[in-house]
Amino acid sequence: MPPNERLKNPASLELLASSPLPTRHGQFQLCVYGWDDPAAHPALSREHCALVYGEVKGKRAVPVRVHSECLTSEVFGSLKCDCREQLERAQQEIAERGFGVLLYLRQEGRGIGLANKVRAYALQALGADTVEANELLHLPVDARSYDVAAAILRELGVQSVELLTNNPEKIGALRRLGIEIDRRVPVLIPSNPFSASYLEVKRRRMQHELPHASPSANGAASEPPESGRLTTGLTGS
Ligand SMILES: [Zn+2]
Repeated sequence: MPPNERLKNPASLELLASSPLPTRHGQFQLCVYGWDDPAAHPALSREHCALVYGEVKGKRAVPVRVHSECLTSEVFGSLKCDCREQLERAQQEIAERGFGVLLYLRQEGRGIGLANKVRAYALQALGADTVEANELLHLPVDARSYDVAAAILRELGVQSVELLTNNPEKIGALRRLGIEIDRRVPVLIPSNPFSASYLEVKRRRMQHELPHASPSANGAASEPPESGRLTTGLTGS
């Protein structure tokens, strides 16, 4: 959409529902927001969540995780990526710090949607890496947008954040949207035999701040269980 169209028809945020939510990491306040964005892909949900822990209004250096939905790992326990572990680690970190916000954005597969993500998985099973698979499908490697994240943080009255991420681009994107970021807090998850090469692609081709692949990071074998590159994932932080 051209910028002047966007000005005529700006995206809008609405708090739809809110309730305390007891979790294994402590009690959060779950807020569900409606996000009407005329520029958003129609396949993507307009409902997004904020899990708020403690008092964040008017606070600075608030621990914040901006997390994009990953059905395959978070619900089905897929080992192709580390999204579920990053989500749980962030919830735990926020609870331990005593305050913070976990934004859960419903933009599956780095914003390309579930079906496209699984199409890319099928190509990865044939040997493409996570970047090559999206290119073969003529899809962007990363179609995520953080406009809704910035809007929710403003709505919550967060003054500045410590961002829990390994992805420097996410910091740049949020800063461009006017969010003040004090520092980056890494979320490092050991790889497994299925996720090792995916994490290596994120480090090498997507500028994520991750340690070099270590064959014995978690005591796992250095090679995938079958020959070939079967191990790349698609969503991520
Ligand atoms: Zn994932």
